[in-house]
Amino acid sequence: MGSHSILTQHVQAVANWHQHEREFLQHLADHGQSPDALYIGCSDSRVVPELLTASSPGRLFVVRNIANLVPPVDHADASVGAALDYAVGHLHVPHLVVCGHDGCGGVKAAMDGGAEAQFESLNEWLRGIAPAVARAGTEGSRIEQWRRAVEANVLVQLENLLTFPLIRKAVEAESLKLHGWVFDIKALALRVYDADYGEFVPSGDFLRDLDAERQQEL
Ligand SMILES: [Zn+2]
Repeated sequence: MGSHSILTQHVQAVANWHQHEREFLQHLADHGQSPDALYIGCSDSRVVPELLTASSPGRLFVVRNIANLVPPVDHADASVGAALDYAVGHLHVPHLVVCGHDGCGGVKAAMDGGAEAQFESLNEWLRGIAPAVARAGTEGSRIEQWRRAVEANVLVQLENLLTFPLIRKAVEAESLKLHGWVFDIKALALRVYDADYGEFVPSGDFLRDLDAERQQEL
């Protein structure tokens, strides 16, 4: 697909929006954004945050990069840190989701020891996945290792988030809740990290547990 067809799609999409969403979009333009969540996901073209969460414009503040990384606060890369400052410090989003996905090429490249040598920036970035690869270990098949590394990578990023004083304070004050997700593109299924069990569980099971807990509290 060339840039021409992307532009054509854009023109058609805008025409459709004007027809069906004019009022809604004008409201967003007039009142600014007040998103429900900051979503940090992979740049992979198959994992589209708004489709995955059935979110309309205005609901998600999105950061996407290769393998959904959050470099720790002392890392030189300020791109994710800037988004954290704005979304959490200024927009006060109540939820922050880190979403990885099975079959992540970035995680696989890190498992294979990096990308081709001439891709210096990519290799520098992939180093951020090394702790997750080490944590996932070498047991089981390659696919099992890959799946564990994808899950470990989400957990490492949740830990890295807490290196930012802004995030740590918001979590401690319970004004911000962190969530770890992994999307399985093939199965069209989402796994959610359940801190009570220390593992990723199917999203349906996670919601049922939440409902049961709420009912116990009532
Ligand atoms: Zn990916």
